Amino acid sequence: MKVLVINAGSSSLKYQMLDMETETLMAKGLAERIGIEGSVVTHQPAGGKKVTFTRPMDTHKEALDIIMKALVDPNHGVIKSLDEIDAVGHRTVHGAETFASSVVINEEVIEKMEECSVLAPLHNPANLIGIRACQELLPGVPMVGVFDTAFHQSMKPEAYIYALPYELYEKYRIRKYGFHGTSHRFVSLQAAKLMGKKPEDVKLISCHLGNGASIAAINGGKVVDTSMGLTPLAGLVMGTRCGDIDPEIMIFLRQNGYTTEELDRMMNKESGVLGISGVSSDFRDLEASAAEGNKRAQLALDVFNYHVVTTIGAYVAALNGVDGIIFTAGVGENSATTRQAICEKISYLGITIDPDKNAQRGEEMIISTPDSKTTVMVIPTNEELMIARDTVELVNA
Ligand code: AMP
Repeated sequence: MKVLVINAGSSSLKYQMLDMETETLMAKGLAERIGIEGSVVTHQPAGGKKVTFTRPMDTHKEALDIIMKALVDPNHGVIKSLDEIDAVGHRTVHGAETFASSVVINEEVIEKMEECSVLAPLHNPANLIGIRACQELLPGVPMVGVFDTAFHQSMKPEAYIYALPYELYEKYRIRKYGFHGTSHRFVSLQAAKLMGKKPEDVKLISCHLGNGASIAAINGGKVVDTSMGLTPLAGLVMGTRCGDIDPEIMIFLRQNGYTTEELDRMMNKESGVLGISGVSSDFRDLEASAAEGNKRAQLALDVFNYHVVTTIGAYVAALNGVDGIIFTAGVGENSATTRQAICEKISYLGITIDPDKNAQRGEEMIISTPDSKTTVMVIPTNEELMIARDTVELVNA
């Protein structure tokens, strides 16, 4: 079965074509600047060279049309005809309380997704545009929606209710939802396998540390708590997002002349490790700058690590113990120094790291020593594969 995975944003569309008989990637690519001057599609067949198509693309449908032509092109295509696409899996951001698992997309689902859009006004409408464009270009091909929030729907009210007037939850559904759910689900399943255990039998803390960062506490395959909230701004310090702060700060700044738009931009795009360091949101730049003696770059890394460490501590408490800790995403998979610094601060968990294993990059492995009381793992995330697996399962059901 061949599955096309689509991740549609407001002006971009990422895709992967996967052969699910072997779970191998056939091609991937990205359409950028849709509806903006300078639209471009970059297409790459697995093991082949990147090809770019620069031409005006006013809509997601036009971008998808170029992608479809690239997929069947005799030179850089990977299928002979679009009939070979058996199903499409869509990354969908906010499923609110409506979607606790992936679903086959039909008109009723689309209507419900539209209702969820109030909670993710930047993301859900873009996902829906991607779905509509696919329906037009691939009529009759089954499609599945895989929600970023769904995995976290197992949280209990004690974890997801904010201590605001309860009417706000009733009226607006303001509560903690959590994001990166597809990633946390993928790596937690892989982690259980790597530990030789069933997902039902392990307590895991999954640290998705990338430009966006979140941690999930997972007991027996079910999320108990996670660090992002109503929106992906909550929780850890991130590349450019502030994470948890005293909410009164924003009222203070509002009263001191900052506009709502300025505060929104500040918290989402100018804060995090970029805001603290004034250097970069990229951990490679920060690590290089800190090594050259830049104190604010080091401070940014220390603050980031501190929040990861204290969140892990909170989740050990939420789980009443932990068997395995997972590092994933750009920073978690690649930064040995970040992993080392974090693990040194949670040595109370009886963790011993094998420095040779920790020095390796990009491979799924256990980096703690065999006698370490808690297993520490690096698991490269693969949200597209998780989406494709759900798509196959639901389409075949
Ligand atoms: P993601 O959002 O998961 O794609 O992660 C992107 C981030 O990963 C980048 O902004 C970097 O901060 C970080 N990253 C990628 N490669 C490395 C590396 N070799 N060392 C440290 N950080 C890295």
